[in-house]
Amino acid sequence: MHISVITIFPEMISAALKEGVIPKAIENGTIHLDAVSPRDFATDAHATVDDRPYGGGPGMILMADPLAQAVSHVRTQNNELTTRTVLLSPTGSRFDQSLASELADIEHLVLVSGRYEGIDERFINEHIDYELSIGDYVLSGGELPALVVIDTVSRLVPGALGNRLSIEHESFNNGLLDCPQYTRPQSYAERDVPEVLLSGDHKQINQWRRTQSLARTWERRPDLLLEHSWTEADLAWFEHHSMCNDS
Ligand code: SAM
Repeated sequence: MHISVITIFPEMISAALKEGVIPKAIENGTIHLDAVSPRDFATDAHATVDDRPYGGGPGMILMADPLAQAVSHVRTQNNELTTRTVLLSPTGSRFDQSLASELADIEHLVLVSGRYEGIDERFINEHIDYELSIGDYVLSGGELPALVVIDTVSRLVPGALGNRLSIEHESFNNGLLDCPQYTRPQSYAERDVPEVLLSGDHKQINQWRRTQSLARTWERRPDLLLEHSWTEADLAWFEHHSMCNDS
């Protein structure tokens, strides 16, 4: 998969991707990443990429043309690949695990990071396929949101993670939150590892993990259960759990 980031601070992207699994995926060729600045496509001596908003008001707006040129440049460099463009924006749809899976199938993903008050709407109309928000808060730029998307999407690309099983068992993958995890020592701060995890009985362990996931999702994110595909065992847990809560 190829990922291009359009940003006036390309060093923010390279600086953040020096440690962890994503740099390894870049090193082994699973992910190809580049960061391009719209300043390289500005037409004046000061490499200006922003201007005041029409209609007045505070702040500056990123101009359409340098961004459009930067997008065309990275598209031309990868013209044999299918490209989709994403603008990181607080006004976009909420980015989540299922959107991450959708984006992981794209051959060339272009992430556009805004700055200042935002971006000329005509660039968005012409060049953007998805507008995505990473949450209901406002950051000062789209670089951290772009890094969130890069990390979440890259680890879903086959070959990026050593063990694909770790994805299968993660939160959101099956519509549930992950279960609690433990490692050595067996006793810590007067708390013991749950007995079942020491039993070696994998059927029991899987059952315990599943019910822990269900209970945690029920308590913390009941909204996720509305979309959950219930197995018979899940339904049995649910009936038992609601009976215990009623009494
Ligand atoms: N005026 C904009 C608004 O009120 O919606 C906020 C602009 S923000 C200061 C500058 C840039 O940061 C945005 O263009 C966007 O690229 C990025 N950004 C800020 N918060 C974000 C979020 N929650 N999700 C994705 N991108 C975000």
